[in-house]
Amino acid sequence: MMALTRWKYGDREIIVSHKADALTVSLTEQNLVSYDHAGRYLGSYDRGTNIRRGLDNIFQRRWRDGGKTGPTLRQRSLRDDEARVHLEDLRAQVGRLLEDRTAAAAHPATKEVLQRAVDYSYDRLASSARDFSQLYGHIPILPPDQYRALVVQATDGCTYNKCTFCTLYRDKTFHVRTPGEFREHIRLVLDFMGEGLSYRTSLFLGDANAIAITTARLFELVNILHETPALQKALKHGGIHAFMDIYTGTRKTVDDYRKLKELGLRRVSLGVESGDEALLTFVQKPGSRQNVYDVVHSLKAAGVAVVIIFMVGLGGHDFREKHLNESASLAQLLPLSKGDIIYLSAFSPNPQAPYLPLAAEIGLRAMTVDEINTEMQEWKKVLGDTIHGTGAKVVPYSFQRFIY
Ligand code: SF4
Repeated sequence: MMALTRWKYGDREIIVSHKADALTVSLTEQNLVSYDHAGRYLGSYDRGTNIRRGLDNIFQRRWRDGGKTGPTLRQRSLRDDEARVHLEDLRAQVGRLLEDRTAAAAHPATKEVLQRAVDYSYDRLASSARDFSQLYGHIPILPPDQYRALVVQATDGCTYNKCTFCTLYRDKTFHVRTPGEFREHIRLVLDFMGEGLSYRTSLFLGDANAIAITTARLFELVNILHETPALQKALKHGGIHAFMDIYTGTRKTVDDYRKLKELGLRRVSLGVESGDEALLTFVQKPGSRQNVYDVVHSLKAAGVAVVIIFMVGLGGHDFREKHLNESASLAQLLPLSKGDIIYLSAFSPNPQAPYLPLAAEIGLRAMTVDEINTEMQEWKKVLGDTIHGTGAKVVPYSFQRFIY
């Protein structure tokens, strides 16, 4: 559905945009608030400040403030008490709006979503976040183009789990779901999402390396997605996406990828990190440029789009030049085209990961945040020039801004 409703409320005009995926209401002239169809708060925008809520009940606040080199994007998570005040204030405003006689101008379906939003107290959202955590554990990352995907965990964790900079799945033992477990997982996911499912525009086959499972099991699990009526819209609209680490797991042929494409596989995200093999060895990521070349050629020959993720700043000053040059020369060898994306992820060392002590052992000179920002601009230019004319895009992103 798509309904745009305007009505006079006191001395201002309320505008509600009720679309097929979500509902947005302007409570004041400067304020926009969005809810999914279940009435869960998605986020709001108010005079230059953006607040987004994740299903884990993290409220992220983002704003820009002036710096010497221009406005800088800032971000912090709200404390529980701040998030509660923020949410309850919006709830009260929407509640008053619904009670006003002028609300009669709104479509009944629109009023129903607004009523659901009022029913979602902060405590109820916190309880929903506990259900989310029981269902998924933790979803630590998705590629930026998939933040609105419905995650369906064909696997738990990462097949490899030993890259020295990465702690994303350290607390999980890798496990491939059986068809029975996967069906039950999907049933619970749909139950959890409820009407909010319409906000999810594609399917992301989690966790870190779902494409690496044996070909027969992968087909079995993907076919379960097709058997599930509630998933048909996302399958048709955004298709299936997944991470793949390229170096581990079962190799697939072009024919396998072609069949997966027929079953809806749209784009595969490859955590390449660097085209510099010495740097990959240092961070204990197995594999080679040849592996990347082979996998990307196979996927593209099957008509599946790719995301290549490079980690800018990895290896600090010591690897800087080779990291950039060899990543660019690798990108040049890949048959990239429209629909493919190169993501440049700003490296931010996790103190819990083995990377920092290992870097200290060899006296590696790390880059500061400002240096990585400058480096990011250089990568954007060099990689942009390298793939110019292919139709693929180069997009810098910050892993810290992930919210699900
Ligand atoms: S970077 Fe990827 S392959 Fe390496 S441990 Fe992390 S999730 Fe696994």
